[in-house]
Amino acid sequence: MEKCVIPLPDEAATIALGAALANACPQSCVIYLFGDLGAGKTTLCRGFLRALGYEGNVKSPTYTLVEPYELASGTVYHFDLYRLLDAEELEFMGVRDYFRQDSLCLVEWPQKGEGILPDADIALTLAYAADGRQALIEPRSARAAGIPARMASWRESHK
Ligand code: ADP
Ligand code: MG
Repeated sequence: MEKCVIPLPDEAATIALGAALANACPQSCVIYLFGDLGAGKTTLCRGFLRALGYEGNVKSPTYTLVEPYELASGTVYHFDLYRLLDAEELEFMGVRDYFRQDSLCLVEWPQKGEGILPDADIALTLAYAADGRQALIEPRSARAAGIPARMASWRESHK
């Protein structure tokens, strides 16, 4: 499947990528967000949620592990699994209810939930670059395969 690399020179670019992704992805999907601490995962989620009409504050749910957002387009669950000690803990949280067919899940630190989390439709990796950050977008399912193409015009305007 087509992958794409997107340069993100500043925070505004990360927010804009989150918004573009929100507009390009299916109503229900699972998005894995990889990247070191401070790479911009939560910033991207902020752009994503704002594009769907959420106007409040977006913080990483580091201690609660998940924050639900009830939006006009449906429910978005924002996970941050950084502090998860054992993937099994997700079972006790009732993680299966969160990953219903019709929900959209953004997951920071998905590697901590390996074996319990459902597979991703899209994996997005944020990395530090000489100039800000860089994103790698990798569709992993048929329903996400068209995302880089749907983002093509946005990518053109952000070169
Ligand atoms: P994470 O959730 O990956 O730990 P955050 O989203 O909390 O990271 O972001 C950490 C910091 O990086 C924030 O201060 C944010 O403003 C900054 N940041 C986000 N994107 C960029 C970028 N493209 N270039 C420079 N700084 C960025
Ligand atoms: Mg974060």
